Amino acid sequence: MVRILLKPRKAKPFFGRHPWVLDSAIDRIEGSPADGDVVDLCTDRDEFIAKGIFNSKSRIHVRLYSWSAQQQLDDHFWRQRLQTAWQLREALGYADPEGAARMVFSEADGLSGLIVDRYADFLVVQVTAQAIALRPQIVPMLVELAQPKGILLRAERDILRAEGLDLQQGLTWGVMPDGPVEIIDKGLHYRVDLSDGQKTGFYLDQRENRIAAAAYMNGRRVLDMFCYTGGFSIAAAVFGKAREVLGIDSSHRAITQAQANAERNRAANVRFDSGDAFDALNAMKASGEQFDGMILDPPKFARSRNSVDDALRAYARLNRLAIDVLTPGGILVTCSCSGHVSQGDFFSMLMSVAQQSGRDIQLLEQRGAAADHPVSFTCPETEYLKCFICRVL
Ligand code: SAH
Repeated sequence: MVRILLKPRKAKPFFGRHPWVLDSAIDRIEGSPADGDVVDLCTDRDEFIAKGIFNSKSRIHVRLYSWSAQQQLDDHFWRQRLQTAWQLREALGYADPEGAARMVFSEADGLSGLIVDRYADFLVVQVTAQAIALRPQIVPMLVELAQPKGILLRAERDILRAEGLDLQQGLTWGVMPDGPVEIIDKGLHYRVDLSDGQKTGFYLDQRENRIAAAAYMNGRRVLDMFCYTGGFSIAAAVFGKAREVLGIDSSHRAITQAQANAERNRAANVRFDSGDAFDALNAMKASGEQFDGMILDPPKFARSRNSVDDALRAYARLNRLAIDVLTPGGILVTCSCSGHVSQGDFFSMLMSVAQQSGRDIQLLEQRGAAADHPVSFTCPETEYLKCFICRVL
């Protein structure tokens, strides 16, 4: 067995079950592991800590999966982990065959590097670590568990680079869907592009937040900024009985899909436009156009720990602009999906926006991702989504 020995005083987070062992924590390697090999992680005094998988090409040299010295990382182990993840979604009522759900959420399900989203009869596997990409048993096990029509593999370019991964993206099992896949989410119909859409095609994490936000939108004129394929807009119109909804996104492709989704759900008072969020808000402010409901769901502003301050400034600028076009008593649903920006940081950002704008902001609901995106207390990085529902006086 190959052993990875830590530097002195580096063991605490790993006894605490954090799964990422960075190269900087490692003192020496006994043996010569190939990338993808199972290794034991030990303290500088040779005590066993955990079993993981080695990748010399990644800054995360070892990803940890089991804290028991007896546990083999064999078929039985991976199957059990997948089944445990599946059981949660079934218990949550996310097994509806026409629906969609995140079935496996990486570290939060003890499967660092593996994301599995189900869209009706298809699975999209998003690989975020080589450790998982090199495990040939995963795809057959997913077939066994879900009996899908097809399984597609996806990976983001940054991840391929960071993990030194050479992954054949696209169909890996079964048949390709012929075009976008239709899902029914809370009674609403969406067409999801599994090959070219953002993320795995749809932002499943916002599913419950769309419904929660809609509940405040009755009779309001709503702006859904960063609308992507129209999730918040359509929920606000159909469930929330908003008077009128305008969705804006910089992606033309997303706007075309949003329009089709709105038509599919007979949401007639929803309109979409492409454009840059900051430009659009500035133009509205200049022309005096106002809304009494607003959703802000921007892309990740902080890509690394070093960019948190810049990200917070961008969030402040965006939220300030949003408030400037909100009528008194307007509802602001403001989100951040930057994992590096904490709930506390986001709260403080809104505090300074309130102080500087001269408008009082009341926090009504503080929400996170849907329950099929659990948060693991031993890997706090799994908490990333913040969705604050506020009233702006
Ligand atoms: N609210 C959406 C998800 C939004 S994801 C939903 O519920 O499905 C973030 C979106 O912001 C993406 O669709 C992306 O195309 C868009 N985007 C990125 N930069 C932008 C900008 N500067 N202005 C407007 N939209 C932008």
